Amino acid sequence: MDSEYKSPGDVFECRQCGDCCKGFGGTYITPRDISDISKYIKSDPEKFVEKYCDRSGSRHVLTIGKNGYCIFFDKRKQCTIHPVKPYMCRAWPFIQTIIKHPENWNAMANSCSGMKKDIPYGNLQKIVAVAKGKLDRTA
Ligand code: SF4
Ligand code: SF4
Repeated sequence: MDSEYKSPGDVFECRQCGDCCKGFGGTYITPRDISDISKYIKSDPEKFVEKYCDRSGSRHVLTIGKNGYCIFFDKRKQCTIHPVKPYMCRAWPFIQTIIKHPENWNAMANSCSGMKKDIPYGNLQKIVAVAKGKLDRTA
């Protein structure tokens, strides 16, 4: 294991560019996300889904606004639901697929300037597993 890369901060630092909040890639939301975000914006969960979500197959994703960004992204380039943002947004880029397929990391890094490239696979798998485990214990 390369000692240069041991913790999440060694391989990723968000640049706050907002690029991951743009475009219809699909910010999937879980039932827990729906419940948390609805409470946060003081909405009924059904009304929240109706007003702020679209379908992608069998799942819900957050709607994209006219400006091409997520409906919860504001003009100051900030997430207006930051304390309860969806699991997917909180987890990025420490996601399950990297544990099995670390070769996907560099491709993801092409669209996220905060991710360092060419990290040894063994280090990446370990860092992602620990970061994901920590998040899942609080999710
Ligand atoms: S694209 Fe990457 S660096 Fe930019 S805001 Fe999203 S996570 Fe941060
Ligand atoms: S919920 Fe927040 S962090 Fe997630 S895509 Fe929307 S604006 Fe970005």
